[in-house]
Amino acid sequence: MTDRDKRGYGTGIGTEVHNDPEAHYRKTVEERQETINRNRLYTDITECEAVVISDRGGEYSGTTDRVIQTDQSGTTTYTSVIVRFIGPANNPSFHPDQAKTDPLSAKNKEEFLQLRSLNSSRAVKEPIFGGLIGEPEIGNIVRCVKRRNIWEIDGIYKRSHQPYDDFIKRMANPSAESGKSTFEAAGSNGVGAPGSSNNSPPSSPAVVKFESALQTKITGLGLKFKVTDRSRTVEMQMERIKNKFYNNGPQEVISTYGKNRGSAMVKAIQSADNETLKKLAAKSSNHLKGAAIDIRSWHYSDSEIPIVLSAIRELGGDPLLENIEGCWTNSGKGVTTTQRISGVKAGGSGKNTACHNEHIHIDIPEDYGTKLES
Ligand SMILES: [Zn+2]
Repeated sequence: MTDRDKRGYGTGIGTEVHNDPEAHYRKTVEERQETINRNRLYTDITECEAVVISDRGGEYSGTTDRVIQTDQSGTTTYTSVIVRFIGPANNPSFHPDQAKTDPLSAKNKEEFLQLRSLNSSRAVKEPIFGGLIGEPEIGNIVRCVKRRNIWEIDGIYKRSHQPYDDFIKRMANPSAESGKSTFEAAGSNGVGAPGSSNNSPPSSPAVVKFESALQTKITGLGLKFKVTDRSRTVEMQMERIKNKFYNNGPQEVISTYGKNRGSAMVKAIQSADNETLKKLAAKSSNHLKGAAIDIRSWHYSDSEIPIVLSAIRELGGDPLLENIEGCWTNSGKGVTTTQRISGVKAGGSGKNTACHNEHIHIDIPEDYGTKLES
């Protein structure tokens, strides 16, 4: 046997030696066939059924706007969401994501974000569909079609997806290994749907009654309604403030909490002085007294926002339109007319964009619904 024969038939790396060239040949052919099969599995699919796992302006973020070259003459801005393929409808086990760990199986938010970043497939939706089929939300099932190599969403279904339903339940009580520091490192954006890193304290009777009355009123107007935050502990409030700082910038903290207190909060965060931040946070929000809720605003158009603000006031609530900086022509307290600043996307396009985290904060009278009728 010559030295040349000893190299074997493998990759040429290492010391692998095959004494059975025929078996090696068979193995190579099998491997090649496997690759062909896998490629066929990926490329033959032109229609998908998928679950949306990004969340514009919400707890899990990930929805972006992408400018895509559509033909020689120009580009189109698409809304891009992250999806996990769950099949073609007639063959749920036949899809590109089948071998990947489902991010919806995550035990906590950090793991979810990590799995999602490793496993995401993206689908995009032309803005023109916005008014017709609405914007896909996390947990929605979508139908998509591959056109010119771009996955486009053709239909949105609100039907239940068991892994998503289970995920939401799990996130309401994430497992212990989602330590607070790792949660923060993963980058909570702090709109804070119930069930972020902490369990919310129970809502006060005033909040429960107000929320229900507001839901009836707003959905009665034919508008969507979603509460994204209710009562908070001081620790949760500290987290919200930090999220504002990291995701919207120090100026947003100052504009929201005032020149003196807001600036002191910024200083405390910058110097990692949690004790001081805790003291400042403790008196900074009606969420701590169980007398405030936040509702989602990105699903309202510019013309719907004043209608919603007025509905809140009619029930005795005091709305505060956030973000204070960069999103609205009029923001904060006492807003009756406003629109999103020209060129700004509802809900933003990711962290540190203008309307990321936009919402309506509502202060609720502490005795709401408990006063005697006169
Ligand atoms: Zn709030």
